[in-house]
Amino acid sequence: MLIFEQVYPLNNHLKDLKKQKKSIGFVATMGALHSGHISLVRQAKARNSIVVVSIFVNPTQFNKQDDLIKYPRNTERDKELLKEVDCDIVFIPTVEEMYPNKVEPENIDLNGLDLNMEGSFRSNHFDGVATVVKRFFEIINPDQAYFGLKDFQQYLIVKHISKVLNLGPEVVGLEIERNEKGLALSSRNQRLSVSEQNEALMIYKSIAWAKENYKHFSPSEIKKKIHLDFEKSNLKLEYVEICDPHSLKEISQWSDFKEARIFIAANHGKVRLIDNDRLF
Ligand code: AMP
Repeated sequence: MLIFEQVYPLNNHLKDLKKQKKSIGFVATMGALHSGHISLVRQAKARNSIVVVSIFVNPTQFNKQDDLIKYPRNTERDKELLKEVDCDIVFIPTVEEMYPNKVEPENIDLNGLDLNMEGSFRSNHFDGVATVVKRFFEIINPDQAYFGLKDFQQYLIVKHISKVLNLGPEVVGLEIERNEKGLALSSRNQRLSVSEQNEALMIYKSIAWAKENYKHFSPSEIKKKIHLDFEKSNLKLEYVEICDPHSLKEISQWSDFKEARIFIAANHGKVRLIDNDRLF
């Protein structure tokens, strides 16, 4: 497994591999790796001859300094986990390598996909995501880039910018990995005790309930019930939304849409968790 910290050596190495007609798969991460990340790497390995994983806690996508500082970091363990799954290349750049001029997001048109949910609760979050992903795509020039559906809005936005800016890679969305009880794996789970993680299952249970029962209720009734359930819990609900999975438009009547997805964000103390799933 090769480790690069600088853009130019990595870029040159990848150009050589491209000349040898190797297909390049890319997985972007912020480190503190868990089985969710590793499942993306495994699936990339199955589809590409070379897999590049980046580990970079991107400052421009954090709107709260405290969240950026407290974001878990464990690079040595991350490298070991990646070696175990035969990752070919790890890219661990510094902030200066990624942002040689200004540590600021670019102004990229996100076609309104950033207006609700994560976009409205984390201002400029997706400008930062789009900026860093664009830079990674330019440096790595992958054939495929794999993103987890756990961050569904991010996946849609990356797919959109890759297409409209003609960045090159096919953007592939991969299923959410969960623990044995259903909690979506997240680097932020490390900041929760076992009993807090069990309480956080409330998010998954609400989604599972909606999946099973949506036919008997309107979207607003589903959302109201989930709001009431959270009021009785230790978690603070930030939003529950039911949206079209292509435009992210809010669904107020099932019959107006062919597909629907439910999205939840909630805080357990200072730890912010998100999850989502397809209703139909
Ligand atoms: P992060 O390190 O949180 O930025 O995540 C890096 C990539 O891993 C993103 O594409 C995430 O959507 C994906 N990811 C994170 N958690 C999971 C999970 N539980 N299942 C599947 N993919 C995930």
